[in-house]
Amino acid sequence: MVKAVVGANWGDEGKGKITDMLAQKADIVIRFQGGANAGHTIVNHYGKFALHTLPSGVFYDHVTNIIGNGVALNIPVFFKEIRDIMDRGVPAPKILISDRVQIVMPYHILFDQYEEERLAGKAYGSTKSGIAPFYSDKYAKIGFQVNELFDEKALKEKLVRVLEVKNVTLEHLYHKPLLDPDAMFDTLMEYREMVSPYLCDVSSYLYQAIRDGKEILLEGQLGTLKDTDHGIYPMVTSSCTLAAFGAIGAGIPPYEIKKVITVCKAYSSAVGAGAFVSEIFGDEADELRRRGGDGGEYGATTGRPRRMGWFDCVASHYGCRLQGTTDVAFTVLDVLGYLDEIPVCTAYEIDGEVTTDFPTTGRLEKAKPVITVLPGWKTDIRGIRKYEDLPENCRRYIEFVEEKIGFPITMVSNGPGRDDIIYRRAL
Ligand code: GDP
Repeated sequence: MVKAVVGANWGDEGKGKITDMLAQKADIVIRFQGGANAGHTIVNHYGKFALHTLPSGVFYDHVTNIIGNGVALNIPVFFKEIRDIMDRGVPAPKILISDRVQIVMPYHILFDQYEEERLAGKAYGSTKSGIAPFYSDKYAKIGFQVNELFDEKALKEKLVRVLEVKNVTLEHLYHKPLLDPDAMFDTLMEYREMVSPYLCDVSSYLYQAIRDGKEILLEGQLGTLKDTDHGIYPMVTSSCTLAAFGAIGAGIPPYEIKKVITVCKAYSSAVGAGAFVSEIFGDEADELRRRGGDGGEYGATTGRPRRMGWFDCVASHYGCRLQGTTDVAFTVLDVLGYLDEIPVCTAYEIDGEVTTDFPTTGRLEKAKPVITVLPGWKTDIRGIRKYEDLPENCRRYIEFVEEKIGFPITMVSNGPGRDDIIYRRAL
């Protein structure tokens, strides 16, 4: 069966933890979009890890980890990550890389930096991993699929053609050093050396795996609100973060995705710029940030402090709806145990009107949160394994959120570890 694990919000909901946990019973874990621009934090018996491009199944030797065609593959970063986890005692993971995946070129990263410099104060808050220039080139059909590395003559010709365009921008817009096709060719030959042992016709591999009844997890990066189309455009990422894209970014039929597990955090956090209706500031935000996640809410890739807010039912209902949620995994609930009262954003007020529909960006920027305050439970809920054993106010919080978002919360995560989970219904 194919299951997707995706985010409802701005990312950092705890998808890595949920994927690592579900991977205990999976055969295959696939990354289908995004690149090294966000991180998944995983805590297990090997230690604490921040993965950027590696699928979250790499800690199990029974899991085959796949980089799907939809990913932005930064080859040196990818291999450094493998080395880093192995240096910390993790056995060499089983890896396959789609022969159709495209390569993040060194100049994609440069262009990201140069553009952020040029925009200065008006920048999008890019992680400067080359993701926007990468996807722009992919859809402009001047990207490089890994299989192109094997036809040296054609590759050289294409490099000359593509770099000619890049150099015009470098010279006249950014006033930066120009790119040399020969040097770039040498770099790509090094990349070829690294990826060749792992290349695979992934859609064909998965076709067979599905026929053989394998347990397959599609692992999403970021969340609905960062989706290029359905997110808070233009403060979004440049790939599709929805489960639907899992079919394309892995190469499987859409109807094979039988479960969509949408990960939703018990409060909100966001990185980068953009409207964030339930955002909180000052001491209140600092305290939640410090206590949040596992060791504070700071970006796994950038180390940037995350923006903090209360749970947003409007954004989360929308986020779950667009994902096509069958199950919500409600995470990081243990963190809220210090609060006497817990505010929840249940609607938006826009130009004097109250709505529970998530609006387009211009109206979203004008939205003010309508807050309902629920009583806290004032205890540490870590270690609890049965739903009935949660304090009454904690269950009330979960059931209130479930009713407002309109999708079933079937899992409650009350700690960063694999076993910190309460199932309300079997998956
Ligand atoms: P992802 O990108 O969606 O995988 O999320 P991140 O890894 O950026 O952020 C989630 C953070 O919360 C990580 O530090 C996790 O270890 C941590 N985490 C996940 N689930 C829980 C939970 O239920 N409780 C606590 N306290 N931390 C959690």
